[in-house]
This record gives sequence, C-alpha cells and structure tokens, in this order.
Amino acid sequence: MQGIIFVAPPAAGKGTQSKFIEDKYGFVHISTGDLLREETKKNTLEGLYISEKLENGELVDDDLVSNLLEKKLSNLNSRGFILDGYPRDINQAKILDNMLNNLNITRLIVINIDIDREIAKKRILGRLQCQSCNRVYNDLIKELMPRVSGICDNCNIPLIRRTDDNEETFNERFDLYLEETSSLIKYYEDKKILYKVDGTKSKDEIFKDIEKILGSENYD
Ligand code: AMP
Repeated sequence: MQGIIFVAPPAAGKGTQSKFIEDKYGFVHISTGDLLREETKKNTLEGLYISEKLENGELVDDDLVSNLLEKKLSNLNSRGFILDGYPRDINQAKILDNMLNNLNITRLIVINIDIDREIAKKRILGRLQCQSCNRVYNDLIKELMPRVSGICDNCNIPLIRRTDDNEETFNERFDLYLEETSSLIKYYEDKKILYKVDGTKSKDEIFKDIEKILGSENYD
C-alpha cells in the first residue's frame, strides 16, 4: 500500500488536494479532524471532551486520536491512503512509524504545502464543507465556490461552516502548527521522504506539482 502524508497549515488546501488524489489515484483520504468530528456526534463523555478541544483549537490526546487512526488504517481496502492532519508532532510521527510497521506499510512520502498566514486566514474565513461527502468549498474564492450558493455540488444538501473556522481559533491553530511542525518537517527531511509544494499557486497548479512528485516515486 502507498501512503501520502500532508503536512500543511490550516487552509493550505489539504482537503482539496486530497480529493483530487482520491479521484485520480483511488487513494482513501483520512482526515483525523474528520474522524474526530465524527466522534463529537456521539453523545458520550469522550465526544464532549473532543468537542471542547476542537472549539478551542487545541490538540486532542495522542492515544485517542492514534487509536481512531489505527482502526481506520487497519480496515483499509485500497491501493493507498492520504493522511491529513496526522502526525501533528514528532511524538505522533513515531507512533505512526510503529503503526505502519505493524501493518506492513513501507511506501510513504510526505508533502509539505507551504503557505503564509495572511493567505491562510482569508481562505479559512470563507471555508464551507459538505457533511456527507466532506468536500471542501470556499464562498470567498471564486474557483472553490459551489455551483449553487451554500449547497454541495455532489450531494445537493446545505454546506456547513465549521465552528472552529473563526479568526481567534484560526490564530491559535496557526501558531500551534508553526510550533509543532518545524521539527516534524526536519524529521521527514532527515528520512529523505519530504517534498515541498508552493501552496500560494492555484489548486490545479498545486495538483500538477503533486502529480509530478507521485510520478517520481512511481505511485500509481
Ligand atoms: P483539522 O481538521 O486537521 O484542521 O483538525 C481540526 C482539529 O482536530 C484540530 O484543531 C485538533 O483539535 C483536532 N485534531 C486533528 N488532528 C489531530 C491530531 N493528529 N492530534 C490531535 N488533535 C487533532
């Protein structure tokens, strides 16, 4: 099985690029943010704990998120996967190394989408998502708008604005990203599996860059 990890700040376009890869390569997109949001719908203490963390832009406990991910990875029946939102730091990177080892998954690359804070902020304040297919739109960016305002192109149901997509939570999450990921990027650079992509380009140009990377690694 072939694996791709996305390391990128909030609103760098991970969700959009994951969808493109999913459609072209048949890989499964696994977003730990989505897995966690799914858990918040359950009326349990754990669900409440996760809701609070998400609202505050804080990281959820490593064991909890790692267990959710492991369950998902071990039940996968596909050529590959795209990991979006995990690992967030070196500790999670090491947990993931073990997990992949145990599951006999040896082909892994890391793509870092680079984008500055101001562009990310604009993107996040307009972001909308479909609760059914998880496709991401943006009502401030022309090329990412749905065909009908506020409605998913695929599922024809109303789009949702995430409660953590506000300026205060955004700033928290961006600061946390910078703090946690500089060492993560170095970790994967040292393993020689890290690729950088310019996230200020259009979504199609970014995808072309990603296709080149996957081609150079013989991903198919
Ligand atoms: P995301 O959808 O990746 O932007 O994540 C939304 C929120 O989910 C984050 O702000 C965290 O609260 C939580 N989260 C997602 N992935 C992780 C992770 N790998 N470890 C801990 N918390 C996470």
